Amino acid sequence: MVERDFRASYEQDGLPPRAGVVVVGAGITGCSIARELTRYTHDVVIVEKASDVAEGTSKANNAEVHSGIGEKSGTLKQRLNVRGNLLYDEFVKGLNVDFRRQGLLILVTPRTLHEISRKYMPAFLQRLITTRLIPRLIVKSGNKKGIPWLRIVDTEEIYRMEPNITRDAVAGVHDRTYGLVSPYKLTIALAEHAVLNGATLLLGTTVTGIRVEDGQVKAVETHRGEIETGIVVNAAGVYADEVADMAGAGGFKIRGRKGATLIFDREATREYVRGSVSEFRLTGRRKARSKGGGVMPTLEGNLQLGPTALEVDDKEDTSISAEEINEIFERFHYLLPDFPRESVISMFSGVRAASDSEDFIIEASDKVKGFVNVAGMQSPGLASAPAVAEMVMQILHDLGVPRVKRAYYKNTRPAPKIFADCDRNEQERLLQEDPGHGHIVCRCEQVTEADVVNAIHRIVPATTMDAVKRRTRAGMGRCQGGFCTPRVSEILARELGIKRIDVTKKGPGSNLFVGEAKSPAEKPVIATGCEGCRDDT
Ligand SMILES: Cc1cc2nc3c(=O)[nH]c(=O)nc-3n(C[C@H](O)[C@H](O)[C@H](O)COP(=O)(O)OP(=O)(O)OC[C@H]3O[C@@H](n4cnc5c(N)ncnc54)[C@H](O)[C@@H]3O)c2cc1C
Repeated sequence: MVERDFRASYEQDGLPPRAGVVVVGAGITGCSIARELTRYTHDVVIVEKASDVAEGTSKANNAEVHSGIGEKSGTLKQRLNVRGNLLYDEFVKGLNVDFRRQGLLILVTPRTLHEISRKYMPAFLQRLITTRLIPRLIVKSGNKKGIPWLRIVDTEEIYRMEPNITRDAVAGVHDRTYGLVSPYKLTIALAEHAVLNGATLLLGTTVTGIRVEDGQVKAVETHRGEIETGIVVNAAGVYADEVADMAGAGGFKIRGRKGATLIFDREATREYVRGSVSEFRLTGRRKARSKGGGVMPTLEGNLQLGPTALEVDDKEDTSISAEEINEIFERFHYLLPDFPRESVISMFSGVRAASDSEDFIIEASDKVKGFVNVAGMQSPGLASAPAVAEMVMQILHDLGVPRVKRAYYKNTRPAPKIFADCDRNEQERLLQEDPGHGHIVCRCEQVTEADVVNAIHRIVPATTMDAVKRRTRAGMGRCQGGFCTPRVSEILARELGIKRIDVTKKGPGSNLFVGEAKSPAEKPVIATGCEGCRDDT
């Protein structure tokens, strides 16, 4: 195969006139499917309206590769979550992305029971139920769902595992299948791997219509023109209902359900928990709306508390109110009573794509041939991604995508070398190769100028502040970009050949700067606008 200069494409590049398969949406769902598709065909186009991949819900979640224990038996979500989790090691192979099965401790506390039970049930019965019955039921139901490695742990072991945990815990279950991954790094890696294997990624390209003739998909219409195709995979997240309606292949509604999470300073909270901790609660309605959340470290070492679950009319509503922050502390601080609340450095919220049935909708449309819905991908969409891609491939084979794997498939996606993640020897070597590693631009996360430049020139390039942040961590530390924002924006302008005033946080309409001003020394300086600058990490 002739090598070509694979890169994501932008506004200035032309649209490919046709494609074998068009995937709408470059979140974890669309990128997993596109990467899987490239094992069989290079004729894949991914269309994404944002200026980077993972700009939707895939950047704003808790990074948990759940085992499936929290999902209702018999649902598609539950099946794909259990299978997805078990496929994860294979899924990330060759991507050079960290994935750690670090385990989840599910605590049973007096709060596990309903308030009413606590009020009226005799104490000895409450104790029997919480210490004996519930842990056994959790393990039994998990095993029935196909989850291996679940184990009841007593309080002595709980406190040995997690010395800072609430002394209210009466029993627990350890779920060793549970893992952590960086959702945006994984999405970026999948997109890069797909592009390396011949897929075309169109960023900044909004799907505005689907042309259907005689009940068959004919083309995807975008604000930049049309791409002829016979197969469309609709992985448009919270907008999947609208994209399905464009084709006449809808009939379902996606509601937005916001979840807010607090992030804590790594240095202050590093010692507080070793793995993730959640509390098992029989809270009926709430349980149906989210898995309940808890205390979760990230792979980088920060702690997260959350998330909440709030129905929202606006699918772009990623605001966080004082009530939501209080709710997080009320629900989760209880698990770690001595935890330093004041060490919060940031917060974010993401919007879950909830379908009417609360389940995933993954099927070829029976109204429009060639149109495949992958909708209602709320949690555990990240954990299920490998199994979702596998299931969608079966559907696509039935629609005519070749079943034979390509001979020239590249198994590996080379990882960018991040200076701070390297050992001393490697840092010396990197410094000699590129003196740009001698300039630290983000003090908190020790990100170098060369790290930023490399991110800007990857095959899926970082062209905004947020895109640089997701790839390098510049701006994710304690000062949240206070020090590095001017420097990173300067490097972005220089490397992209644009004016500094045109550098954005996350694409058109999110400019960082409001204009040029004169400093007292008569040197032009640029004033920073801060609206929306700190809404996520
Ligand atoms: C607070 C919170 C915590 C969560 N925690 C977890 C967790 O720990 N573990 C887990 O497994 N899951 C978790 N989830 C769920 C998980 O984040 C989602 O299931 C997953 O990210 C969905 O990915 P997606 O690709 O389907 O959607 P998205 O990431 O939203 O991607 C859809 C993409 O489609 C694009 N798009 C939409 N319309 C168009 C159009 N017309 N033209 C072109 N592009 C378009 C969007 O810009 C977007 O990039 C969480 C979710 C939330 C909100």
